Amino acid sequence: MEPSTIAAIATPPGAGGIGIIKISGPEAVKIAGAVFRNRSNHSQPKTAKPVEPKAPEERFFRSHYLYYGHIVDPVTRQNIDEVLLTVMHAPKSYTREDVIEIQAHSGPAVLRAIFDLVLGQGARIAEPGEFTKRAYLNGRIDLTQAEAVIDIINARTDSALQAATNQVDGKLKSIVESIKNELSDLLVFIEAGIDFPEDVEDILPTPKIIPRIQSCVVQSIEDLIHRYQAEHVYRDGLNLVIIGRPNVGKSSLMNCLVQKDRAIVTATPGTTRDLIEEGLQINGIPINVIDTAGLHDTDDPIETIGIHKAEQRIASSNLVLLVVDAGEPLIADDLQIYRKHQEKNMILVVNKMDLVKDTDTFRLEVPENWNGIAQARLSALYGEGIDTLKELIVQNAIGDLGHVPDHSIIPNLRHENALKKCQDAVHSVIAGLQNNQPVELIAIDIKEAIEWLDSIVGTKPSADVLDQIFSQFCIGK
Ligand code: GDP
Repeated sequence: MEPSTIAAIATPPGAGGIGIIKISGPEAVKIAGAVFRNRSNHSQPKTAKPVEPKAPEERFFRSHYLYYGHIVDPVTRQNIDEVLLTVMHAPKSYTREDVIEIQAHSGPAVLRAIFDLVLGQGARIAEPGEFTKRAYLNGRIDLTQAEAVIDIINARTDSALQAATNQVDGKLKSIVESIKNELSDLLVFIEAGIDFPEDVEDILPTPKIIPRIQSCVVQSIEDLIHRYQAEHVYRDGLNLVIIGRPNVGKSSLMNCLVQKDRAIVTATPGTTRDLIEEGLQINGIPINVIDTAGLHDTDDPIETIGIHKAEQRIASSNLVLLVVDAGEPLIADDLQIYRKHQEKNMILVVNKMDLVKDTDTFRLEVPENWNGIAQARLSALYGEGIDTLKELIVQNAIGDLGHVPDHSIIPNLRHENALKKCQDAVHSVIAGLQNNQPVELIAIDIKEAIEWLDSIVGTKPSADVLDQIFSQFCIGK
């Protein structure tokens, strides 16, 4: 069945200089021809060679040319907007289908009017990520490159962008393919051993083969897994939630971290009732900081909703900063907050250290069972000690994996899962060779390892995997 022609407003909603409507599919050129009027009254550009026309409109469009003209309602003849039209004939386009891009003025009414005309000519509204999905299904990119397109759009830091750009260029794909080539070569040997069992000893020189698998397969897989573990936070970022009882300085800490007056700071307890979120970067790690309502028992219905929302964000956070007041002994509320969240990844922030500069006045006693938690002593009011807290946050995020991040490749969780499964299968291959297992069994393990590598680049992905990946896209990409 011929694919349908899809269209989307590809630029974000709202007023702006330019808004783009994208059309892709077999009818794209015909649809553009029906709604576009060349400024020189349909005359063909002198430089344009006529393309083989499938329909009369098509002869006005040459691939990879930019046309100036107007969008005109074909029924009412009403002029809608002055536009530039880009034409890319299949297969030299993003989707490998015929693609038209209409660059119009960006306003909700004008873009909607053009979009309606395009839909009226037979295009259907594209689903999120459908253009990129077509690029993948038509073989222009593999699954890792499609995922990297989302990463480029979502990149909040230079490091995330660099890794995503490398991935779009096929860097991860080529490493995965080179590991797969090694395993495929090994499979050829093993299958020869199946066909000529009497010569298996000569065909399979185990003492030579195992070191080769170790260096060309195992190490490469380990390196990729390591890269995920040590660097994914540079792409995926961290959700960091600030918690504590009222008045310990959570909002002050939030403001100090994001370096602006984002949350209201007052001596009146219970001021922050809703969640306040703000983004920042620490050493290239994108961080979403969330200030929460002070956690304590309360009858105030609004505060109760705020506390409930806070608990939800704490549950999905990567790291919590438990703030306590250095000037006062810990009270039951502090102990209860700790107890309730002790399973979370946590840093203890002892705030208001300016009040207890003199060690004699510092009487805060941290219970023994809290001792394992990293601790930052600071003054959010004066910004003292904040750098130490930032260092602790980075250490907590990247751990001590002995890996110097270079951001050249950052696999994602899906890749890591597949790599670990592949690693297990490769370990079985090595054990099989070491224990002189029947070559038929070793071949099964090699095939399994190859299948896991194939799943990374998406040779035969399930519909669920595709849905899961492409549903993360925005409409129009
Ligand atoms: P929250 O209720 O936990 O969000 O606390 P706030 O940030 O609103 O602060 C409560 C009060 O403590 C305000 O009067 C702040 O000025 C004060 N405060 C916050 N941090 C510090 C600090 O580091 N030193 C001192 N001396 N006061 C602070």
